[in-house]
Amino acid sequence: MERILIIEDEEKIARFVELELGYEGYQVEKALDGREGLALAKAHPFDLILLDIMLPGLNGIEVLRRIRLFSDVPVILLTARDTVVDKVTGLDGGADDYITKPFAIEELLARIRAALRKKRVSSPSPTILTAGIIRLDPVRRECWAETQPLELTKKEFDLLQFLMENKNIVMKREVLLERIWGYDFAGETNVVDVYIRYLRAKIEEPFDLKLIFTVRGVGYVIKDE
Ligand code: CA
Repeated sequence: MERILIIEDEEKIARFVELELGYEGYQVEKALDGREGLALAKAHPFDLILLDIMLPGLNGIEVLRRIRLFSDVPVILLTARDTVVDKVTGLDGGADDYITKPFAIEELLARIRAALRKKRVSSPSPTILTAGIIRLDPVRRECWAETQPLELTKKEFDLLQFLMENKNIVMKREVLLERIWGYDFAGETNVVDVYIRYLRAKIEEPFDLKLIFTVRGVGYVIKDE
């Protein structure tokens, strides 16, 4: 039975979601504030966490940041706000998906199933990917330029990994968007350009490398000859 933790201070929503997820056969724990949620997440292995952003005390983004220090568990953010900035902050902080309140329970269930499926699919592929001097370990989620470790955010890492897995193949911006950010970002391909810039600043500029090539009007490709 898959275990889900919901961290949400609005008791009505927390109870409703707990009940519905219970009907679906998930085992659910709930926490009504950030600190309690973080403590539970540390104490027990969960398969997925639903995390409200606006929480008293420790807010959801901070809870997420702390969870990511010890766990790769899929996290879906719940929020009343719906802006690109919030999405980027949350997803950049390591969230897997994002749902805006009020939401239909069917939509939440679909997102949960998708996140759990992705978690199962993305489990081990033991190869180390390489492109030029860049090496990336998808299992340990580590990346180096020669022997120097690179600090990448979750989305930067996912984007780099996907480009390296598809080395020498031009990836359309829409494909990258859908693959790395999901359908919630449909049409916002400028997010891809922003992250390509972040990646270039971390993996190309410091090492005077050229790895990520722009194909105008199409997308990006990693070449390493
Ligand atoms: Ca709240």
